[in-house]
Amino acid sequence: AKWVYGFGGGEADGGAGDRNLLGGKGANLAEMSGLGLPVPPGFTITTEVCTHYYANGHAYPEELDDQVDAALDRIGELTAKRFGDPARLLLVSVRSGARASMPGMMDTVLNLGLNDETVEALARDAGDRRFAYDSYRRFIQMYSNVVLGLEHEMFEEILEEEKARRGAEYDTELAAEDWARVTELYKAKVFEEMEKPFPQDPREQLWGAIGAVFSSWMNPRAITYRRLHDIPESWGTAVNVQAMVFGNMGDTSATGVAFTRNPSTGEKKLYGEFLVNAQGEDVVAGIRTPQNITEEARIGAGSDKPSLEKLMPEAFRDFVTIADRLEGHYRDMQDLEFTIERGRLWMLQTRSGKRTAKAALRIAVDMAGEGLIGQEEAVSRIEPGSLDQLLHPTIDPKAERDVIAIGLPASPGAATGEIVFSSDEAEELKAAGRRVILVRIETSPEDIHGMHAAEGILTTRGGMTSHAAVVARGMGKPCVSGAGQLRVDYRNQTLTAMGRTFNRGDVITIDGANGQVLAGQVAMLQPELSGDFAAIMEWADKIRRMKVRTNAETPADARTARSFGAEGIGLCRTEHMFFEDDRINVMREMILADTESGRRSALAKLLPMQRSDFSELFEIMAGLPVTIRLLDPPLHEFLPKSGKEISEVAAAIGVSPEKLRQRTEALHEANPMLGHRGCRLAVSYPEIAEMQARAIFEAAIEAGRKTGAPVEPEIMVPLVGIVKELDFVKARIDAVAKAVMEETGETIAYLVGTMIELPRAAIRAHEIAQAAEFFSFGTNDLTQTTFGISRDDAAAFMETYRQKGIVEADPFVTLDVEGVGELVRMAAEKGRATRPAIKLGICGEHGGDPASIRFCEEVGLDYVSCSPFRVPIARLAAAQAAV
Ligand code: ADP
Ligand code: MG
Ligand code: MG
Repeated sequence: AKWVYGFGGGEADGGAGDRNLLGGKGANLAEMSGLGLPVPPGFTITTEVCTHYYANGHAYPEELDDQVDAALDRIGELTAKRFGDPARLLLVSVRSGARASMPGMMDTVLNLGLNDETVEALARDAGDRRFAYDSYRRFIQMYSNVVLGLEHEMFEEILEEEKARRGAEYDTELAAEDWARVTELYKAKVFEEMEKPFPQDPREQLWGAIGAVFSSWMNPRAITYRRLHDIPESWGTAVNVQAMVFGNMGDTSATGVAFTRNPSTGEKKLYGEFLVNAQGEDVVAGIRTPQNITEEARIGAGSDKPSLEKLMPEAFRDFVTIADRLEGHYRDMQDLEFTIERGRLWMLQTRSGKRTAKAALRIAVDMAGEGLIGQEEAVSRIEPGSLDQLLHPTIDPKAERDVIAIGLPASPGAATGEIVFSSDEAEELKAAGRRVILVRIETSPEDIHGMHAAEGILTTRGGMTSHAAVVARGMGKPCVSGAGQLRVDYRNQTLTAMGRTFNRGDVITIDGANGQVLAGQVAMLQPELSGDFAAIMEWADKIRRMKVRTNAETPADARTARSFGAEGIGLCRTEHMFFEDDRINVMREMILADTESGRRSALAKLLPMQRSDFSELFEIMAGLPVTIRLLDPPLHEFLPKSGKEISEVAAAIGVSPEKLRQRTEALHEANPMLGHRGCRLAVSYPEIAEMQARAIFEAAIEAGRKTGAPVEPEIMVPLVGIVKELDFVKARIDAVAKAVMEETGETIAYLVGTMIELPRAAIRAHEIAQAAEFFSFGTNDLTQTTFGISRDDAAAFMETYRQKGIVEADPFVTLDVEGVGELVRMAAEKGRATRPAIKLGICGEHGGDPASIRFCEEVGLDYVSCSPFRVPIARLAAAQAAV
């Protein structure tokens, strides 16, 4: 079998299409090489080797050794060098690369092949001892960390001591002999820790590094990242071995990263950072403040450090040409890594760049305008969930700003919260319901969980491409990075800004749009949904088949949803209307009444309240369909719980506390979720359903008169499992409709339908459809009843289930297509068989989940309904599902 794929010298065994086999990095290195771009030659050990490695107790396939040797020879031919040969020294990097990019998750070893002998050869070849020893000490440190598992800090301490000894501030001030000394000290440290010398044999080094990459697939950081991003463990990582080029060969050498468009705003301008005389991840690590690539960006940033454009004009020109070419080739914004060795440009990586939602929209719309992609593709490029970022508030421009520092606008959106200095603490406070800003000198992959828990992230070091910035953008969290005026003191848990000290727990606000850090809480504005957002939405609306409605019962929610493009209400939960202050007691009066007439007189008081609620909703929806669900929860939910509350309520509604207590006890249920609720209430107390139906019809007439748009209400009977339940309730509703029409002389068009939320309802759907004019899949309850898992109690074990691989996703978030979905499909088919024109929709939480929406399209539902803030997400997801 072929386990190793070579690239370099204008050709390659694979290409961009081989991502699964070669990993993202390897596939794109091959692609660039095939395009004839300057890529140092190398080879990729496939992801299949990783799978083999884990399936066979960390053993490699038999042929691997020979294939690696042959591939090393090929690099040797292309570079006129030889691995391990001091006379023609070839050094390599060993880089990981999974299918999906996992920034910072896996470790890279540079300068591999150096030892006490070859370092002298490197010095001789380069004519530069300082460079050679700088490379060697980097190698020892990286290798010791990644392969031998020694902490970086050990080495950094040694370096700091050495710098102090030499009175140097920056690494660049150290001379050849200093680096040689550091190297000796490093090796001594390794010996002390490992009780054996640092490996000198290049082959041992190479296999050590390859093994470390494969092992790192299972390190805790990588596992966390995969869990957060739903990357299956079975994918494995590839290993890339590549000839070294050097950005640290003096002042005509450099290393950098760039995006072909601005990853924060999407603006069509090359955007990037670099460092002179540096190597590898120096730019990202925030060791020195990086310089801008273009003159324009330098001027924009007010930096006095020269741009690459000025400093190395030829390499810059080459780079711009290649960047354009790659963007056109991949038809997407690219994230590039490059190194310049003595004026000569080398490409080390390209991939589709991570971007903010705002940038994603702008890039998609621009690229459609440029003719690079079509509208359909533009729509399909936007991750629906990412729209969430745009729906987040920004700081009110009119608000007073108490600016304590300015950093880089690393990820947009504004956030307010209490200062915390550690990720563990961020997680703890978040779990306790608090909002926090994670403040760090810089972040590392160990901080992922804290970044997740925080509202926003603030770092005092690092550029726009630092770990904090990249990860925050990916998560859609506001981030300000590199706020250098701030001093973080972890020990005393303080943040100092221009003489002012803030403690852990003090509230600050960050503005990811301009990099400001503000004291206290600041007024925020709701986002604007025009421009690129509107364009994508318009295109999406043209493409999608399903309608998107909202779940709303308050006028505010209904209006928000309309502004987000909702095409009606798919679920109005009437019980929410009974909880409002003055109503709850009337409701309680009704519940406590001993007779039907007692109940009717309380209901008569509720009628005008419900009528005006409905009337307002109908007006807001102006002729769009509105589905109203009859009372659903068990009645005891409306009664007071504690003893103190009982006496207060008893006084307020004029009954004895004793009676109230008795009634509350009588209504107690062992299993309320499966108890006296839904249509069961309407069967026991038809007068409740009658009052609600009357309120709906009267409101429909009222709103229809006011707006001139006829209202066609859809009345939904919850929790039907037996067709006779629906027959019973529907007869009452029809009778009320007839009465109201006679009283008013107006005709009302209306539909009566049901929620399908019990397995029995799905099974008997053909029968239920004889009475029901529509079905709305209540997938929250349907999931509970299908699995027999109560949603309120699921949290205790669902995460364990996920960790142990028993379920892939939480079925309350993403519809369980195989089980619950099968019931939905069956009910839809049976319903249509009985009543071909039956309206079908979904109103569970899943109506706003992109993966579930795809399923809804597949079974041909007419609409999805979701919470107001998810309406844009659903519109986009529905369009993507229709393509
Ligand atoms: P990551 O996946 O974390 O970005 P990479 O494998 O891309 O890790 O390596 C990080 C950096 O190391 C690269 O951006 C590049 O600057 C440097 N690097 C990797 N391989 C080489 C090489 N062969 N020559 C020079 N620099 C390299
Ligand atoms: Mg890295
Ligand atoms: Mg990289």
